[in-house]
Amino acid sequence: MWLLIIASALSFWLTSFIFCVSRKSPFVYNGGPFEGKNVLLVVAHPDDESMFFSPTLLYLTTRGYNLHILCLSTGNADGKGDMRKHELLKACALLGVPTQQVKILDHPNLQDGFGNNWHHSLLAKLVKEEVASCGINVVITFDSYGVSGHCNHRDVHYGVRKFMLESSHGDIEAWELVSTNILRKYIGPVDIWTSILYASSNPARSIRWLTNEDPRKSYVSMSLHASQWVWFRKLFMAFSSYTYMNTLRRIHPMDPSCEPPLPETSKEL
Ligand SMILES: [Zn+2]
Repeated sequence: MWLLIIASALSFWLTSFIFCVSRKSPFVYNGGPFEGKNVLLVVAHPDDESMFFSPTLLYLTTRGYNLHILCLSTGNADGKGDMRKHELLKACALLGVPTQQVKILDHPNLQDGFGNNWHHSLLAKLVKEEVASCGINVVITFDSYGVSGHCNHRDVHYGVRKFMLESSHGDIEAWELVSTNILRKYIGPVDIWTSILYASSNPARSIRWLTNEDPRKSYVSMSLHASQWVWFRKLFMAFSSYTYMNTLRRIHPMDPSCEPPLPETSKEL
């Protein structure tokens, strides 16, 4: 009986995997392409791009989009910041983002770690500068939960939201990576079915759903973060749905149904 259940689960996993990767072009729910070609991904730490956003990066870099990455810290919580900067550049090169278009900050008030709250006004200012200097049309970042609930991820979301609220450029669009519940998070390619349901139950123009044509490349790009490449992250890359697909939702900062920004911390800029 148990053997039958395990065999069925394995075959469902494999069927979903094949469905996910076998398409010539990934299924993109609605909307077609993004409106602008200059895209900025804003993340908190080196490795966020490979662990969470690689389906989006691979989709965009293989379709002529010009990708920039703004990484707001060196990930120095364990004193490995310098090493992690180099790892990020190598991973980005593999994912198709040129080294000169990856900016890694080491700001004293933006240090990696739980309990280190990042000031949203400072984040909004830094995003604004990067958008202006690179001529960005599209900004992509975490949602308000930040996939893992890490406070740095969440602050980055609110920084981008604040930038959008204060931005006078109505032609810039921002998108957030939708955080899924813990079950969906660890069913790998099987999440393709729940993603289809989620995307189809939301207004078409507010959702982009991207599947990963080359999950192996996501795995390899994460392995280039050698200082972080421990057994549980190897398992994460194999079983996380974020290796196989990303659901992006448009950020409408003026939408009253959106969660309001968290209150600012008292930390000075
Ligand atoms: Zn992170």
